Amino acid sequence: MVCKDENGQIIENPSIPWNDTYLPKVDWQNLHILKDEAFEPLTITCAQVLQQIGCQHAARERQISIDYPWGLTQEGKSLSSITICQKICSFCDVAADKGYMGGVDEAAIKEHLLCLPSGPDGRKISFELINESPLFNLSRLFELADDLSIELSQINLTLRADYLLKGLKPLESTLKIAAKKNVRILLSSIEFESFDDTILKNLNKGVSRQTNLDAIQAIRSLKPKYPVHFGYLKEEGANHGFICPTPWDNKALSYEINKTISMYRLLLDILPNHSTPLIIYHASGLADWIRQIELKENVEFVRVGTTIGWWQTKDQSLL
Ligand code: SF4
Repeated sequence: MVCKDENGQIIENPSIPWNDTYLPKVDWQNLHILKDEAFEPLTITCAQVLQQIGCQHAARERQISIDYPWGLTQEGKSLSSITICQKICSFCDVAADKGYMGGVDEAAIKEHLLCLPSGPDGRKISFELINESPLFNLSRLFELADDLSIELSQINLTLRADYLLKGLKPLESTLKIAAKKNVRILLSSIEFESFDDTILKNLNKGVSRQTNLDAIQAIRSLKPKYPVHFGYLKEEGANHGFICPTPWDNKALSYEINKTISMYRLLLDILPNHSTPLIIYHASGLADWIRQIELKENVEFVRVGTTIGWWQTKDQSLL
């Protein structure tokens, strides 16, 4: 963490390793909201269980080249780009902090499961599993729940399309267990982000348009086998990642994305009601990218709170 001391000098706290001692205890009764000038306990309907710290995608550093915003390039000229050193998706600031620290101790995971509040039917309420690559170890959660003599109701997963494809077999075997125990596994957020290879490259997502489409085909074929116990639809509570607009959009690129959306009927079951505009947080790789463009091109993008407004320089809108 970087901050200023009382004399205005910038100081940086050294990073310290994660300490599992602080991880097991979770008190879900401890959350309150302010109502009529008094604190009232907040009813938790969906909780979290921590199984992994950080993201595997953050484990390997590489040099990546990110194109200039389309609005700053002139027609007929080849695209300029900026090269940065990056471990993670270029827009992600969450894994920028954590990196990849591996799995949490099973004793702590058991505590997390035990600490989950129970619903009216006595089962534990639904929870988001914090693990970017959750499928290989998913069935273990059912064994831990059996050890603890508790019943689960729903597990929500956030994962990348490539990790989903790699983990299809363990997902199917876990779904068999889930169906027997009447537990739903919801792919609550698949990080598709885009259906264009240029944008996916600039986001350093590490997947291609085809990977995303293969993942969609796989979940669509799995759904009829487990109609109740496997979920991925927005009606079931899923909200998959789709970033639009981005600085690299142009007419041809948008035409191709819309063609893909229509050909693969992505509005039917995959795309959320609204896309998420690309947000550049100061800690992300894209912030390094855009600051380098500012220096090179002598332009200044607007600052909006903790983000950098890629769509607006002082004298030009790039939308
Ligand atoms: S966006 Fe997801 S996959 Fe990408 S670095 Fe962040 S946590 Fe990992």
